[in-house]
Amino acid sequence: MDNTRESSSLVVLSGGQDSTTCMYWAKQRFERVVALTFSYGQKHAAEVGIAEQLAREADVEWHHMELPFVSQLSTGCSLTDTSLSIEEEKPADAPPTTFVPGRNLFFLSIAAVFARERGIHDLVTGVGQTDFSGYPDCRDAFIKSLNVTLNLAIDEPFRIHTPLMWLDKAETWALADRLGVFDIIRYRTLTCYNGVIGDGCGHCPACQLRRHGLQKYLLSQAK
Ligand code: ZN
Repeated sequence: MDNTRESSSLVVLSGGQDSTTCMYWAKQRFERVVALTFSYGQKHAAEVGIAEQLAREADVEWHHMELPFVSQLSTGCSLTDTSLSIEEEKPADAPPTTFVPGRNLFFLSIAAVFARERGIHDLVTGVGQTDFSGYPDCRDAFIKSLNVTLNLAIDEPFRIHTPLMWLDKAETWALADRLGVFDIIRYRTLTCYNGVIGDGCGHCPACQLRRHGLQKYLLSQAK
């Protein structure tokens, strides 16, 4: 893409559509890409093995870290509490039950320290504000604020890259296509909260968002 590729970056990789697209975005931009996947008590734990496989196939150095405290901290989150079912509709004026309070705050803070130990200052995350599902820690203001906080906390020049921040799901599919990995993203990633790979279960909130974007993108390509 350009000839000013920087040296190294660390991608927070869940094995879903967004973070996997970001991993390939990073591969185009950085000489070396390291991926870090977190286990935090999520029900769809299959995503960890999928993230590992996707990273290895992309020739990306993969690391895994257990953060059991995340699910211990919050009650009432349907992504981590096995006694709750994942709602198909999100409440009108509250975060959805799939919101894990502090998740991206913890993930990116830990990723920054992890990256620093390896001489890496460029962090890549798949969060986005356009189709942000009501998660406050996916918004641009939070990311910019955290970037400043990390630099002050650790006194190093971190840069948090959010290539999907202003893309909707259809545009995220278009990016995967431009990166030449549309089929990998479509058939090999796991976005579904019910743990169904590829096009998913079709009815959980993550599947609905992903499928709607895919249909919109495919329609835009059909002539
Ligand atoms: Zn699903």
